[in-house]
This record gives sequence, C-alpha cells and structure tokens, in this order.
Amino acid sequence: MEYVTLGKTGLKISRMGFGGIPIQRIDADGTKKLMKMLVEKGLNYIDTARGYTVSESFIGEGIEGMRDRFVLATKSMSRTKEAMAKDIDISLENLRTDYIDLYQVHNPNMEQLLTVIGEGGALEALKEAKEAGKIGHIGITVHSLEVFEKALEMDWVETIMFPYNIVERQGEELIHKCSEKNIGFIDMKPLAGGAIEDGRLALRFVCANPDVTVVIPGMYDVSEIEKNMEAVEDVSELTAEELEAMEKVRKQLGTNFCRRCNYCQPCTVGINISGCFLFQGYLDRYGLEDWAKDRYGAMAVKAGACVECGACETRCPYNLPIRQMLKKCAEEFGA
Ligand code: SF4
Ligand code: SF4
Repeated sequence: MEYVTLGKTGLKISRMGFGGIPIQRIDADGTKKLMKMLVEKGLNYIDTARGYTVSESFIGEGIEGMRDRFVLATKSMSRTKEAMAKDIDISLENLRTDYIDLYQVHNPNMEQLLTVIGEGGALEALKEAKEAGKIGHIGITVHSLEVFEKALEMDWVETIMFPYNIVERQGEELIHKCSEKNIGFIDMKPLAGGAIEDGRLALRFVCANPDVTVVIPGMYDVSEIEKNMEAVEDVSELTAEELEAMEKVRKQLGTNFCRRCNYCQPCTVGINISGCFLFQGYLDRYGLEDWAKDRYGAMAVKAGACVECGACETRCPYNLPIRQMLKKCAEEFGA
C-alpha cells in the first residue's frame, strides 16, 4: 500500500482509508475483526462521524490496544461552539482515546459555514480543542461546490472532503486547487454511494488522479477490504477498455441519481427514499427485475405513498427532484 502525506497536516496515511459509515450494518465483534485486518494490511486511516450512530463507538472498541496504529478522523454536524465542544468530548469517549488526529466540520451549507466561523461558532471550539491537544488538525467535509470554493480560502482548513467518482467530476478543478494549496483532499463516495457497481473500476478511476490524497470507500466486510486494496494498489495506467467501461457507467447513471446518503430522511410518511431508488436502479439498470420487484414489494411504505410535502428535497445535498423521481419509481413498480 502506498503511503501519502495528508496535505498540510503532515500526517502519513495509506492512500486508501477506511470509510466508517457501513459499520452501522454490523456489530462490535465484526468491527473488531475489520480493525485487525486493517492493521495486517497496512491501512491506517479511519474515517467516521458523530452522525454515523454506532460507528465511532464500534471503532473505538475495535481499536483498543492498537490506537497508535491509526490516524483517526471524525466529524460533527454541530455549528455552535458549545455543541461542537460537547461533540468533541463525546467522540473522544466513543473512540476510547485522548486524541483525535483530524476533526472535521461535517457538511455545512453556506449559511451554516458562516455560523461555524462566526462569533460563538463551532470553529472556536475546534481551535480550543487543538490548543488543548484533544485534536490534531481541523478539516471540513462538503457537498456543494460553492462551499468547497469558500473552504479553499480559509486558512484553518487543513483537509477537504468532497464526492468524486466516475460520474461526479464537478469538483475536479477545485480538487486540483487543494493540491496546489497543500490541502489534503479526501475523496468520499468513490462508488457514488453504491450506484457504481464495479468497485474496482471506480477506485481505479479515483486513484488515477494524483490530486486525490486519500480515498475512503465504506467497507464492512473483510473481502471488500481485500478487493478494494487490490484496485488501489494497481497503479498501472487506465486501459482503453477501462476508459470505455467508465463512459458506459456515465451513460447509464446520468447525473440525477441517488447517492444513498440518507440526508433526506426522515420522510414525513415513512418512505425509505434511497431504498426505493436502489431497487429502481436494479430494475432499470441491472436487469434484476424479479429480485428488484421482490425487495420493493417487501417495503412497508412504497414510493406511491408520497404526499409531496417536499421536506426531503430541502435536505438532499444533491438537490434531487425526489418527488418527481418517486413518482416515476411508483409508476415503474406499480405501487
Ligand atoms: S415529499 Fe414525499 S418522500 Fe419527501 S418527505 Fe414528503 S412524503 Fe416523504
Ligand atoms: S435522495 Fe438525496 S439525500 Fe436522499 S439518499 Fe438520495 S442523494 Fe441522499
């Protein structure tokens, strides 16, 4: 595994890190096994978040006795000083450590970013925690280009995390600026939230870009770690076949697709929004009609139940026309 420097933090990390979102699907014992495997394989970068329910605490338990083998990164949605200070302490407790290497402001929109940097904002707590030695570095995770651009101008920002993959290349120019400014670029959603089925192809694409410091595919299975490592360790040039396959993925997915981040939840009437789109994808794109219909049929609340209140759309960082998309989903599944 190649090791790189995470921008101005100076942290030495593996080019592939561990994305901690899917840990929510497994238990503490399963997480322990994964953490041991990371050590064996030389992966030392772990990304989690206060918002990923049990992720921080499972990881904390899983790395007990091995803390020094990892660079730990987490994040919080808190925007005020008081709330952020509280969250940093909770993260430290969950992760069973007295020091977190990188603490990130989690996905603020422009208005929230201004609160974060304003008087009494979360940044004050982060700077105090840094001075107190509770955290080592401060970063930010973003979904919008506008906030990305703004973050590039802020001198406290040591790392930026943004989605970048075969079908989401809108950040390419700004990602290049990160490398010019020595800001570590952390790539989230290399598989477009699971929409890109071919994980190897997806990781080959991301790692072919030298501006990407580290890629953090979400993983919850030992075999996934092995497969993903193999793709990241293959540093050969992309072949004509691979480039062609990437073009095919772009044509299949377009731009209006769900990344399964679930920021749109909860739905007013209990629809599992990303679940609907997932099964629809299997129906439309992957020719798994019976399987998709079966799984969709088992959902308690179907797309057709949408009352079009629009609450979900205000929360979707990709501004997806969820109501319209659910209508189409209901038509295709007939419910
Ligand atoms: S618009 Fe539909 S899917 Fe969105 S929150 Fe309202 S009911 Fe749920
Ligand atoms: S609809 Fe938007 S917010 Fe909801 S899971 Fe999909 S991409 Fe995320």
